[in-house]
Amino acid sequence: MKKLLYLLVISLLAYSCSSDETSTPVTPVPAPIVKYTITLSAGEGGTVSTTGGEYEAGQTVNVTATPQGEYVFTSWSDGNTNATRTITIGSNSTLTANFEKRKYALTLNFEGEGEVIEEIVNAGRTTEYDSGTTVKLTAQPEDEWLFTGWSGDIGVIDPTENPIQLTITEPKTLTANFKKIEYFTLTVSTTLGGETSISGGTYQNGETVIIIAIPKEGYRFIGWEGYDSEETSLSLNIESDINLLAKFEAIYNGVNLLNLLSLSEIKSNLDSECLILTNYNDFNFFISNSQPYINEGGVFLRTIRPDLVGWSGSDVTGNYFYFMFENNNLKYIDVYLNRSRIKIFYRSDYQSNEKILDDFTYYLNNTSFFSQTKDIKISSIKDGIYKSTGYIKQINYSQSIENFDCINSFNKGDWRNHLNEKGDEYFKITNGTVTGRVVIYPSDYEKGQMLWQFDNYFYTDPFTGNSRDIVKINEEIIDDFTINRLNLDNPISLIIGDQTSNIKELNLLKKIDPNELNINLVNSYEGYGFYADEIYSNIDFNDPKSYVEAFINDASRNGVDLSYVNLDNFVFNIIPDTEWTSDAAAYASKPCDNNQIEITFKQSVWETGKIPYKSEIPNSVKLMWHELGHDILNLDHVCLGDHIMSGRHQDPKIVYSTADCEEEYITVYGMTWENSDSRKNFQRAVSDMFTGYEQIKFDCQTGKGNTILY
Ligand SMILES: [Zn+2]
Repeated sequence: MKKLLYLLVISLLAYSCSSDETSTPVTPVPAPIVKYTITLSAGEGGTVSTTGGEYEAGQTVNVTATPQGEYVFTSWSDGNTNATRTITIGSNSTLTANFEKRKYALTLNFEGEGEVIEEIVNAGRTTEYDSGTTVKLTAQPEDEWLFTGWSGDIGVIDPTENPIQLTITEPKTLTANFKKIEYFTLTVSTTLGGETSISGGTYQNGETVIIIAIPKEGYRFIGWEGYDSEETSLSLNIESDINLLAKFEAIYNGVNLLNLLSLSEIKSNLDSECLILTNYNDFNFFISNSQPYINEGGVFLRTIRPDLVGWSGSDVTGNYFYFMFENNNLKYIDVYLNRSRIKIFYRSDYQSNEKILDDFTYYLNNTSFFSQTKDIKISSIKDGIYKSTGYIKQINYSQSIENFDCINSFNKGDWRNHLNEKGDEYFKITNGTVTGRVVIYPSDYEKGQMLWQFDNYFYTDPFTGNSRDIVKINEEIIDDFTINRLNLDNPISLIIGDQTSNIKELNLLKKIDPNELNINLVNSYEGYGFYADEIYSNIDFNDPKSYVEAFINDASRNGVDLSYVNLDNFVFNIIPDTEWTSDAAAYASKPCDNNQIEITFKQSVWETGKIPYKSEIPNSVKLMWHELGHDILNLDHVCLGDHIMSGRHQDPKIVYSTADCEEEYITVYGMTWENSDSRKNFQRAVSDMFTGYEQIKFDCQTGKGNTILY
């Protein structure tokens, strides 16, 4: 108000002064009105409150310059720096309000040796940038230095990026970090069983290296030595020398035999019989030098574990390893499962002992050979034909199977016939029991047909004559290894007890395809061979008289006329076993009496002998032909073998020579139908009997009426 008053006073004085200078005494002339134009404008970045106009001289105009956005007001074009000003009009004039952008500082610090190149991408200048300027910053390390990243006000930019583009909208402080370059060595090695993606090398500090552990098949990665991680993929920041060991181990389910067995151990124990070499999880590894293979440089290691291998109750299986040595080196390892060889590991000359042991061990473990938890018991044994693949003679008959120890020999059953042919023994198993047995020799194949020879659990060994019990067919105990590797039909074991020789034998049976036999195994001979013969087929095996009729017809076709025989004079007696006093099975009472025929059988001999079809020729027929040979043909025994009349008795004793009676001979019991071995050929023997070849007539002059015993 005071200033306004002052201006007003000045104005009045000026008016008064002017009035004094221009006034006249007469009528005063009005002074002319002077006008001026003033132009007000704003530069980039702002506005002005008025753009001016035409004003009378002396008038005043108020104006304000206002900046916009990131701009600030700097000055008017006449140098006035007041954004708001009052202009007194005195001339034509033009005024512009000037603005400029705000400026921000970018402060760069350095850690280590290097520099940062700053480049303006859009506008501005160094060190202080107009707001909104984008600056490209490139960190450049000095020689032997390494840029490691930015720190400070970089916002969302990745601190390891280089170069970066930074937009300046406020003051910023950045640090470019440099690190002196160092070189470190990464050494990577592995244990057996795997490899790594890189094998190491020289790296700068701060470098990141990725290493991947790659196990071989059958191995697994178990961790790093030199770095605390069990991850197969390792991301390493190299800041020092590093020694890494990638550790692998075989995927074992059980035991690493390499830790248990050594060649020196094995060999040093060769002198000890049945020594427990080592033990693992109830597996005992035995050495027995009772094996004949010892002499060849081999060693059997027998594993025995009650619930899986070896002997448990009366179940018997056998898993073995057989180590063959040659010149103090392992030559090969056999693996036997249930007594069947299922695998051989050979060692090449250039391989180490450890290599073959390692392969062997890996194999055992990875096939669950030692699995203790996956055992599966197969409770039923499949019907079919099984071949005996071997047996172990092991314990006294009265002993329990549990008394098995490792001092046992085992051999393939060695069945021989009189031609010294080696036979194979077969068993038929039906509904889990043995229902048939047969031994087939090479010459039997000419016959093309064999009969199952017994039922149930009992039979007489045709080789030894001993009665043999089938004590037990084991249940198969099969681990998953077996399931994977073997046909489930393989193999089973059969324990046969021979009470006479006081031993029990373990027979190992392997199921076979019957077609492999190339021989027809029949349950009954009905319709075959003897039973199909035109004369013998007429025999009613329960009617003794029909035997004599057939005998007469048999004689006829061999050129002997027995038509004189009167069947009405044939007497046949059966004596109960309890009343039987003879040592023989049957006898003829009327040799040399051509009008009488009297044959007497022990009851059990007759009853069991006359059952047809169970053998190629019923024993009742064989025995009857022998006795009728005595009674009708008046023949005595011959000490020669191979005849219907072969037989021995003390009185009378008729021999060709003493030696004849000493030889092993075949009686009528040993003969079968059309046997390719003429000694055992029933038809040949019958023909010899009727034609008198090598026969001896009973001395009817001195021995008439004597009973001739078989
Ligand atoms: Zn006789």
